[in-house]
Amino acid sequence: MFLLILDGHITQADKARSDYAYIPFDLPQPAQRLTVRYTYSAAMSSNQVEGGNVIDIGLFDPAGADFPGGAGFRGWSGSARNELTITPTNATPGYMPGSLPAGRYQVILGLYRIWPQGADYTITIEADLQDQESDFSENPDSSIRDNPAFSRPSAFQLSDPWLRGDLQSHTFHSDAKGSPQQLLDKAKALGLDFLAVTDHNNTSHHRALDALDDGSLLLIPGQEVTTYYGHMNVWGTGHWCDFRCRTPDDIRSIIDLAHAHGALCSINHPKQGGPAWEYGFDLPVDALEVWQGPWPYRNEESLALWDRLLAAGWRVPVVGGSDYHCPAGEDTNFLRLGQPTTWVQTTERSIRGVLEGIRSGRVSIGASPDGPRLEMCAASSLGETGMGGVLAVNDSELAEVTIRVWRGAGLALRIIVDGEVLFTQIVQGGDATIRATVQTGLSIRAELMGDCPPTLLPAQAPPHLDLSGWRWALTNPIYCEKTAEPS
Ligand SMILES: [Zn+2]
Repeated sequence: MFLLILDGHITQADKARSDYAYIPFDLPQPAQRLTVRYTYSAAMSSNQVEGGNVIDIGLFDPAGADFPGGAGFRGWSGSARNELTITPTNATPGYMPGSLPAGRYQVILGLYRIWPQGADYTITIEADLQDQESDFSENPDSSIRDNPAFSRPSAFQLSDPWLRGDLQSHTFHSDAKGSPQQLLDKAKALGLDFLAVTDHNNTSHHRALDALDDGSLLLIPGQEVTTYYGHMNVWGTGHWCDFRCRTPDDIRSIIDLAHAHGALCSINHPKQGGPAWEYGFDLPVDALEVWQGPWPYRNEESLALWDRLLAAGWRVPVVGGSDYHCPAGEDTNFLRLGQPTTWVQTTERSIRGVLEGIRSGRVSIGASPDGPRLEMCAASSLGETGMGGVLAVNDSELAEVTIRVWRGAGLALRIIVDGEVLFTQIVQGGDATIRATVQTGLSIRAELMGDCPPTLLPAQAPPHLDLSGWRWALTNPIYCEKTAEPS
């Protein structure tokens, strides 16, 4: 057996130079099994607030680790595991099975937190080498799913059907404990139409999901590009997306690569503790996760941020994501799958249809799969459009806004134009169609707002939650484009 032990010390100066340290080692012959273990000093425990180190781990094979898109990427487990094994046919979740050729490998250590005393690390590498050159045929890449090419499926109608789903969820392929099977069972029990499993920084869950796909749930290929300066969901490609970003230019290069593979990119949880997004918003992203998890989890901050971006003329659709980390056993977390639920209007029941709907902004967000929901359209003398659309209006013209409300009894329906609430009405009788005439601005959006009744609060809720002014549903905006009145 091949055995190698590599020790080293990492300082805060190393972290200042780069967020990643590459520890190379050479396999003299191809291997049938490769195992990497690591430990480091003063590891911060999960209930520590500060002090101690957090070091993540991943692996590149001899095909290379160049940024962006290192062709030799074999997987990433963050700090969720301290050991990984790869064989030609199997791998620890988070890692890709396949041939293990001779040559230079690189363990990548992610220097998430290095405390002033630095960190001593030990990496142990074990391999079962083959006697001769391998004739393992190259295991095909896991990128399995068809890349949705975004030809517009067919002409969009305001009456097209809506699908509901969750755009952010995790399994044991990154930092959750539950399996893909357990997650899919929950999604089906909730009656979701689509689900994006977005494990952090790898695509090993795609293989597992492919094997479980019975066609009853649209499984959107996903991954959460998890950097030390913000997180971004990528939907619609089986290709691994690099995450080794520090600057807006770095993240832009990742977005460009994802787009080249036909995928959508969405900024996640842009709020304190999200963790926040530090790359700015002058980026060609396709969506923004304005609502993550239960409403009182600082979603007010993301909503205020979005209103500021809208007022500056931003036209990026917003979505929701539960960020559900599926447990292996009993579900005791306040974060629940499908809370919130994202509703997408599609011209066809397909992954492509869902992604195209998101890209077009034909999206609304509701607190839960069977909870309140909104749909909005607006008309002027020059035309009519739905959410995500552009309404042409004469310079001083008012817009006729029509909003359909489901399960909204007792909640306040509010219409907001450029951050200002221009219309409020308490919804009577649950389902309703409400019409209003409002001044136009850059954008028009609607929301359902109301206090959370203590009886609705799940037992798992943390104490002292602010129950006032929760949002129960949000629309995407209709954007207004003014044409000067003819003189
Ligand atoms: Zn995240």
